[in-house]
Amino acid sequence: MPTVTAYATPAAKAPFEKTTIERREVGPRDVRIEIKYAGICHSDIHTGRDEWGAAAYPLVPGHEIAGIVAEVGAEVTTHAVGDRVGVGCLVNSCRQCEHCRRGLEQYCLGRSVGTYNDVDVDGTQTAGGYSKEIVVDEHFVLRIPAGLELDVAAPLLCAGITMFSPLNHWSCGPGKKVAIVGLGGLGHVGVKIAAAMGAEVSVLSQSLSKQDDGLAFGATSYYATSDPETLKSLRGTFDLIINTVSAPLPMTKFLALLALDGTLVNVGAPPEPQEISVGVLMGNRRSWAGSGIGGIPETQQMLDFCAEHGIGATIETISGEQIDEAWDRVVGSDVRYRFVIDTATF
Ligand code: NAP
Ligand code: ZN
Repeated sequence: MPTVTAYATPAAKAPFEKTTIERREVGPRDVRIEIKYAGICHSDIHTGRDEWGAAAYPLVPGHEIAGIVAEVGAEVTTHAVGDRVGVGCLVNSCRQCEHCRRGLEQYCLGRSVGTYNDVDVDGTQTAGGYSKEIVVDEHFVLRIPAGLELDVAAPLLCAGITMFSPLNHWSCGPGKKVAIVGLGGLGHVGVKIAAAMGAEVSVLSQSLSKQDDGLAFGATSYYATSDPETLKSLRGTFDLIINTVSAPLPMTKFLALLALDGTLVNVGAPPEPQEISVGVLMGNRRSWAGSGIGGIPETQQMLDFCAEHGIGATIETISGEQIDEAWDRVVGSDVRYRFVIDTATF
């Protein structure tokens, strides 16, 4: 099997090491991708530090992958050598169940296969984008449209679709008041997409330190949630709130910000359980929901939408040797707004 250079963490909270991993031979429906850039998602950190449990080491994270097709299998019809492509959080699913047939592979009734820390249908351990190459079934390879640079496109493969899907599902658009909680990797892309969909967008951040950026991304209002008076003054305001925060929040206070029939969607995935006082749902007939990434057709739709609206992530490019430092900065909410690893530095 071909070996490729990668960065792996050997154990929970251990520093990254430059290493080599094996990739499978290109099968008839496989695409071999030369990875150019890989975004750092907070989910990489939850997994790598074993905060969600079930991490298998050595772990090569990375599910925001952008690169160039280097080789295709004999039966591949949708991609060709030289194409600009991306891979997100999924590399397989059953393809036959009702959800897969509807393009909701992330909710596969059989088993969807994660891009890393999972076992593929052939029994091999999956390894992610902190590496030079990946081999993926063509169905899970996305086209990156012309006009979107690969570095700013990479984070769209997870952050972009994770925000686009609930915004789409809960009818973000003109006349809707939408709030994004947390201006990190997911949040900043969410502000850009929600504004491009035509909604009136507010940011709810811990402080006002990133206000200028939030307004430049397309928000019209920006609030500091550390101020209890601000939260009180916003009660009953928003039709849709997307919570991207990676740590538990006082959810009852945030649910109270919803207007009649409003929905708060959790995409942030803290490991700890979160409590609410259910009375807050009864007032204004509110809903508290969750959403997981997005299926393959919707991910392509998101990439096309972003290209059409000139939306890429706002990034800081780093080398392979800077991954540990970048992870610490993400955990410290010191990211503006997505770290992207340049694999040319490997
Ligand atoms: P991120 O870049 O770290 O952004 C999270 C933001 O939340 C921070 O920038 C910060 O924004 C805010 N925040 C952090 N700690 C906080 C605290 N203690 N109290 C209040 N606010 C806090 O992370 P990300 O990559 O966007 O991912 C966010 C979460 O989504 C993670 O839990 C990740 O695992 C999850 N995720 C879920 C899906 C899904 O399919 N549902 C997909 C991808 C990621 P401010 O400084 O503006 O407050
Ligand atoms: Zn992610």
